[in-house]
Amino acid sequence: MGAIGGRQFLERLDSTPRELWYGAERITGSVSSHPAFKGIARSMAALYDMQLKPGLRDLMTYTSPTSGEPVGTSFLQPRSKEDLAKRTAMMKTWADFSGGILGRTADYLNSSVMAMAAAKEFFGRDGRDYAANIERYYEYIREKDLLLTHTLINPQTNRGAGPSKQSDPFIAARVVEKNSDGVMIRGARMLATLPMADEILVFPSTVIRSGQDDMPYSIAFALPVSAKGLKFICRETFAADSTYDHPLGSRFDEQDAVVVFDDVVVPWDRVFILEDPEKANRVNEATDAIVFMAHQATVREAAKVEFVAGVVTLVAETIGADQFPQVQEKISEILLTAETMKAFVSASEAQAKVTRWGLMTPDYVPINSARNLWPKLAPALSVVLKQIGASGLMAIPPEEILGSKARPEVDRYYQAKTADAEERIRLFKLAWDIAGSSFAGRQDLYERFFFGDPVRMASAYYAWYNKEPYKERVKELLHRKE
Ligand SMILES: Cc1cc2nc3c(=O)[nH]c(=O)nc-3n(C[C@H](O)[C@H](O)[C@H](O)COP(=O)(O)OP(=O)(O)OC[C@H]3O[C@@H](n4cnc5c(N)ncnc54)[C@H](O)[C@@H]3O)c2cc1C
Repeated sequence: MGAIGGRQFLERLDSTPRELWYGAERITGSVSSHPAFKGIARSMAALYDMQLKPGLRDLMTYTSPTSGEPVGTSFLQPRSKEDLAKRTAMMKTWADFSGGILGRTADYLNSSVMAMAAAKEFFGRDGRDYAANIERYYEYIREKDLLLTHTLINPQTNRGAGPSKQSDPFIAARVVEKNSDGVMIRGARMLATLPMADEILVFPSTVIRSGQDDMPYSIAFALPVSAKGLKFICRETFAADSTYDHPLGSRFDEQDAVVVFDDVVVPWDRVFILEDPEKANRVNEATDAIVFMAHQATVREAAKVEFVAGVVTLVAETIGADQFPQVQEKISEILLTAETMKAFVSASEAQAKVTRWGLMTPDYVPINSARNLWPKLAPALSVVLKQIGASGLMAIPPEEILGSKARPEVDRYYQAKTADAEERIRLFKLAWDIAGSSFAGRQDLYERFFFGDPVRMASAYYAWYNKEPYKERVKELLHRKE
């Protein structure tokens, strides 16, 4: 089959049965027509269409080594810097489509599985061939161009104790039994963005470490979302109908769901790690999956800052505020952030090397630095938009007023230096959807947390960073004989 287009994506979405709960409703009809999903379904379909577009096809796909079909470039196992550059250009093209707002375009998790398959020997064998499982799974999702979601974190019941020490040891998803069919899982995981995916990956956290007590929780597997007993409980939607009123929420609300495993049987060929805390603790780093995921994330983040820089500059120019030095200083802050994120990507690629798994791998030092800096930089984007947009962010009446008797007043009093009323309101609604709407609130939380708890990430970064050369230089100066 190979790389799909939007129509195939939508057909698959609507024909895949799944237990998707939205409030009291179990969505049984077309997911792509449901008010909470239709905007994001349309956007995802447009992304898949880009893969088949004549001018983009060569960038967005490559020839599958097994089927000879064109398959998505995010599945490409890079062997050279040219391959890496192709991956980056493809990821940037998808990221620019949403101004970097969509966090879970397929390339994020495709990159992870791509890297893990190259590192298949890490998964090993113990009577079962986990190495073959991950390789087969990679080829399966590549050839069918499946969209993945993932869930890494246990429910937020009591963070003061591990999963086995909770009041109910079956709250966090865990192994219940093993039989000839596979491994039975009971419990829940939070959180999975994009429950409209075809498949779900259940993997260990990139940050939290497991001990021997956590044996039944130390698992990694993949399932189709149609697996019996698998349930997704969605949050309230931030989607809306009007692209004028909610330019981002109407298009890009990916939705987040808690995932429940009601005695779900994972077939043996979908199991990658089983009751192995040591492997669970190392899988993300040891396979370089985290490097390739973080590489994709940094490309996407750079695209987002560029987009916000465009919005905030237009906002300032529209109301003639761009002439003030403190406004220029704040916009410069965003421009500096854009250049910082792009520099991380460039450095990681310039310093890329072929690692032990045979892939041309971006240097993790700049990429891990980007991963740790981003939760600190991202919230400032909204702050600057609010500081410059000010009350203009509230002068955003619903679209209907443009067809009402109040239109002459709107045209007169909402006009701005460089835009008529309709255009100015359109722009400021976009700024509000980045900085202040309920959709924006979710985005802010996402950027702070999607790659793990920034506090524990910072401790891990401190422990991992090689500070020795810096210390040595200081000691040398302290004891220098003049
Ligand atoms: C919008 C959004 C989308 C997401 N999508 C996904 C997804 O698709 N897949 C997925 O797997 N995850 C997803 N996540 C979850 C993300 O992985 C977690 O938010 C992140 O790992 C932090 O975990 P937590 O939210 O459970 O916070 P908690 O671990 O509950 O932390 C709560 C607070 O307690 C502090 N804390 C807790 N434990 C400790 C400790 N031991 N030491 C020090 N401080 C501690 C934290 O610093 C934090 O301030 C998403 C999150 C958001 C907000």
